[in-house]
Amino acid sequence: MTMSMSKVKACEVKDCAYNKSKACHALAITVGDASHPRCDTFTKSAAKGGDIASTGSVGACKIDSCKFNKSLECSAKDIMVGLHQGHADCKTFIAR
Ligand code: SF4
Ligand code: SF4
Repeated sequence: MTMSMSKVKACEVKDCAYNKSKACHALAITVGDASHPRCDTFTKSAAKGGDIASTGSVGACKIDSCKFNKSLECSAKDIMVGLHQGHADCKTFIAR
C-alpha cells in the first residue's frame, strides 16, 4: 500500500526558520537523531525558509521505537511538534 506523508499539524517552535504562526512550512521535515524524536530540520536563520503556501510534512523519521514508525517513515495522519528542553521534538511519539 502506498503511504501518504504525515502532516505537521502544528509546531510551537517559533524561532525555527520554517515556522510562521505556529505552522511548519518546510516541505518535508526529517524527525529523529540517533535515539531521540527531535525535528532534525529545525534551524535558526535570519531569513525565513520554506513555502508559506504549504504545510510541512514528515519526509522521513529515524525513530523505529515509535509505534507510528513503519520502515523509517511516519504512518501517523499528522504530528505535533513542540519544545522539549530547548529543542524541537515530535510530541506524537509513543513508544512501542
Ligand atoms: S516542525 Fe521542525 S522544521 Fe517545522 S517549524 Fe517546527 S522545528 Fe521547524
Ligand atoms: S509520530 Fe513517531 S514515527 Fe511519526 S514522526 Fe513522530 S516519532 Fe516519528
